[in-house]
Amino acid sequence: MAYTLILSSGGIESTVASYTTHGNNEPTRLIHFDIGHSGGRQEAAATEKTSIALGMPLKKVSFPDLQGMFSGIMDEEALADEGDTRCNFEVSFLPGLIELSILYGRQSGARQLVIGLTKEQMGDGQQKMAAIKKLAEANQEYNPEMPSLEVLFPFSELTKPEVIAQGARVNADLASAWSCFKGFYQHCGTCASCRERKAAFAAYGNGDPTVYLG
Ligand SMILES: [Zn+2]
Repeated sequence: MAYTLILSSGGIESTVASYTTHGNNEPTRLIHFDIGHSGGRQEAAATEKTSIALGMPLKKVSFPDLQGMFSGIMDEEALADEGDTRCNFEVSFLPGLIELSILYGRQSGARQLVIGLTKEQMGDGQQKMAAIKKLAEANQEYNPEMPSLEVLFPFSELTKPEVIAQGARVNADLASAWSCFKGFYQHCGTCASCRERKAAFAAYGNGDPTVYLG
């Protein structure tokens, strides 16, 4: 059966994308990658929570040493918790994970892949959207026998505070969405991702449901 696949990190954008898609009453599944980083366990738990809350089947894929693969050849700071490697496209694992998501989606009957990158994450001229579409086109060229898959970017014109507002409209469980780079039981409140989360909720202006340690 044709369905929609959502690439989920367990963060705010993918959580809101999941709740938004759920409202469309379309068959939907989630795919989540654990790349062996500090906050991976909490991100997986957040994705599982969304999966259960919305009745969306979840495909979990674990690459426990993917982050470690780049240790020694990439700037250690980029690999450290303070600088999320996934936020910097030039050192990001995201294109590889998207390519795998495209392949998995096409093999399993998905017609659409939802990626919750925000306007800021798209970069100037939204070049990351163009790059991701090329990944899908390359997969289509390499595997022409399978049905094609369309990549959707529902938040390409929205900032993070606007995504939070959208989440409030669809009653997304934003408190459970995980952003922190650290592996603590609550958000640390001080890492780059926590600071971005705090600033986005502050800009949203209707309260922050997150419990921060600092
Ligand atoms: Zn943090």
